[in-house]
Amino acid sequence: MHNLAINAERLWATIMETAEIGRTEKGGIKRLTLTDLDGRVRDWFAARCREAGCTVTVDEMGNIFAVRPGRNPDLAPITCGSHLDTQPTGGKFDGILGVLAGLEVVRTLNDVGFETEAPIMVVDWTNEEGSRFAPAMLASGVFAGAFTRDFAYDRRDREGARFADELARIGYRGEERVGTRKIGAFFELHIEQGPILEAEEKTIGIVTDAQGQRWYEVTLTGRESHAGTTPMSLRRDALLGAARIAVAVDAIARANAPLAVGTVGLMEVRPNSRNVIPGEVFFTVDLRHPDDAVLKSMDAALSTAIAEVATAGMEARVEEIWHFPAVRFDAGCVAAVRKATEDGGYSHRDIVSGAGHDACYVARVAPTSMIFVPCEGGISHNEIENAKPEDLAAGANVLLHAMVARAGA
Ligand SMILES: [Zn+2]
Repeated sequence: MHNLAINAERLWATIMETAEIGRTEKGGIKRLTLTDLDGRVRDWFAARCREAGCTVTVDEMGNIFAVRPGRNPDLAPITCGSHLDTQPTGGKFDGILGVLAGLEVVRTLNDVGFETEAPIMVVDWTNEEGSRFAPAMLASGVFAGAFTRDFAYDRRDREGARFADELARIGYRGEERVGTRKIGAFFELHIEQGPILEAEEKTIGIVTDAQGQRWYEVTLTGRESHAGTTPMSLRRDALLGAARIAVAVDAIARANAPLAVGTVGLMEVRPNSRNVIPGEVFFTVDLRHPDDAVLKSMDAALSTAIAEVATAGMEARVEEIWHFPAVRFDAGCVAAVRKATEDGGYSHRDIVSGAGHDACYVARVAPTSMIFVPCEGGISHNEIENAKPEDLAAGANVLLHAMVARAGA
């Protein structure tokens, strides 16, 4: 089994072939979910999977499932996948790698007539990016029960087009009830979209966790007054308060190093005039940590910091607008990825995903883990997103061996 290896040139050529569908001038891809281009790449993918002997099914959310039979059809398929949709200025690898590496796994098994005990399945999840229809990871979320199907169907893009109508229009509103399909285990191969693997010259990231995220919107109200005539002791400067909270957010993240991050990324100062003491500031806070208990303590520390500022004659309104719980990936799946990585002789490190992925939702309904490979400069969601063919091949080989080990030879 250990001399089983994917065809690196075929994988690269396949990625480059689909990169033509929605190709941008700068060499990226613009292939927004449920557009004609999304329909084209789906048709291409389904056709290649059928040619490779797979049965292709589409569910009510347009998720595409390609199954290569195993010896025991009663076993739930060992599954991999990701997404073929992109950002408006997307790259050639984000999501696409995880789907096409799955196709490459099937082709490799076919090349040598390799039979697995459980079936092998490759999935294209609809609308991972959330760029045209928010929120992101919509269809894997419905599959895992995080959203209802009808909530998803009623999402609208900026032109008012409805998700369900666009799904039907491109021919991918399937019959199969979403969420009913069994998954024995799920592996998602993805570019890291961050700088760590490249900086440390590691080929494989063994993803153990995905960060929990809490997003807040804060409005701090003080009192506007004259910058020249108001003594320092009588000021209620909302910007100064917001600045103190921003410093506290930084301190909260650093106090929970190395895995915590905290960001104040947006601030609106009112009235925003050079000689008026700011009366009101609206700002956002983004806290992330892979352990929900730690994230909860960071949340408490944030509340304390805001309350301290608010005692200085200011009023704070805080709204938590989003809470995405941390994900601890399945120990058995992580072990399968680790073994495949070590057997392959690849340099590696354990890593936490800072971004959301379909795997984060699938983890709620099936044993799941992820494999990361480096991307150039850690840049993603950008047309210049790039990766090395040999790194992608290494990731696909780890995927292949983890899946085969799990499916049973
Ligand atoms: Zn992605």
